[in-house]
Amino acid sequence: SFPPSVSDFYQFNDLLTPEEQALRKKVRQCVEKEVAPIMTKYWEKAEFPFELVPKLANLGVAGGTIKGYGCPGLTITGSAIAVAEVARVDASCSTFILVHSSLAMLTIALCGSEEQKQKYLPSLAKFDTVACWGLTEPENGSDASGLRTTATKVEGGWVIEGRKRWIGNSTFADILVIFARNTITNEINGFIIKKNAPGLTVTKIENKIGLRMVQNGDIVMNKVFVPDEDRLVGVNSFKDTNKVLAVSRVMVAWQPIGIAMGVYDMCHRYLKEREQFGAPLAAFQLNQQKLVLMLGNVQAMFLIGWRLCKLYEKGTMTPGQASLGKSWITLRARETVALGRELLGGNGILSDFLVAKAFCDLEPIYTYEGTYDINTLVTGREITGVASFKPAA
Ligand code: FAD
Repeated sequence: SFPPSVSDFYQFNDLLTPEEQALRKKVRQCVEKEVAPIMTKYWEKAEFPFELVPKLANLGVAGGTIKGYGCPGLTITGSAIAVAEVARVDASCSTFILVHSSLAMLTIALCGSEEQKQKYLPSLAKFDTVACWGLTEPENGSDASGLRTTATKVEGGWVIEGRKRWIGNSTFADILVIFARNTITNEINGFIIKKNAPGLTVTKIENKIGLRMVQNGDIVMNKVFVPDEDRLVGVNSFKDTNKVLAVSRVMVAWQPIGIAMGVYDMCHRYLKEREQFGAPLAAFQLNQQKLVLMLGNVQAMFLIGWRLCKLYEKGTMTPGQASLGKSWITLRARETVALGRELLGGNGILSDFLVAKAFCDLEPIYTYEGTYDINTLVTGREITGVASFKPAA
């Protein structure tokens, strides 16, 4: 029976619909066949595997829950389990998909006009075009609502001026979803900028220690003209950006779930195969204790992630619930991969063994889509009614 993974200790497939189970199986088979053999090479070279894009396109997951416009209209649980299965084998690949689908496409679906949805979503759903999503700036990371890029109204469109940092997929994206401050209303607006627009420069950020396959860029927009038709009509304040983030945080929470599953599966196998002191590593109590701690984490992470999806499907999920899911799951995943790294001994620091790569990949995930701290504060504000993002005056 599927899945044969030892990390599925509580038989998670029972929680999925037959369609979600079938998708899970399809994604697992594809990534194990197509992604697993090449991921370390690309990770080490910090290059993006363009050869994989048609194979990822065949999975039919881009666009996730979006209905129509060539998108798959999956349940959020189905979409999430697909992300976890990709992350189980390679986190960078799952980040590539998430930036494109759960951030950029979702913003167009939630905040775009009918014409914009018809124009952009069908080719994005097939990965014929690739998108990125630019919120973070060099001077505004956690304090994203204070962003400084400006959008000035001119005849027939807008002039965008400013900088973005860390933007995944941006070095090769066909379209860039960019947030900027309207110079008249002082509110945040959203825009679609095309690749090669005059005044747009993207430079790859080098020397990352995690998610090395993902191409993150520093973007400079020097008086980039965006026609009126490419302003996202539904982004009129930072609250609209937050609507996208609340959903994408659910999806991002499934990356650490998948990563931890992959690490657990790998460690379980390794401990049974390698011997020291005349016995398999699995026979030592200290090793078993670590393995069981990892297993417990994976079960709890999955169940919280699954419940979050159900709350979303019910229409009652709150931003605080999404943030708690993202922050808590990522924290437990960080602990899990660290234990896994330890269990593999010296091989735990070699990227060839999956665990070291997962260990490094967890670090940026702990930080992006709201750091652990910022997501904690979002939940803290919701449960206490008091915002504590700014130091007391
Ligand atoms: P800072 O905001 O400078 O934070 C530094 C530290 O201070 C953190 O520990 C933080 O938690 C803490 N801190 C900050 N404010 C508070 C506070 N009020 N209370 C308590 N602690 C606080 N952004 C995009 O827009 N698009 C992308 O595609 C994208 N991809 C990314 C990919 C990677 C690999 C990385 C590393 C980042 C990516 N980001 C992206 C940016 C990411 O969202 C930011 O890095 C993140 O929001 C944190 O911002 P910062 O790095 O400026 O850290």
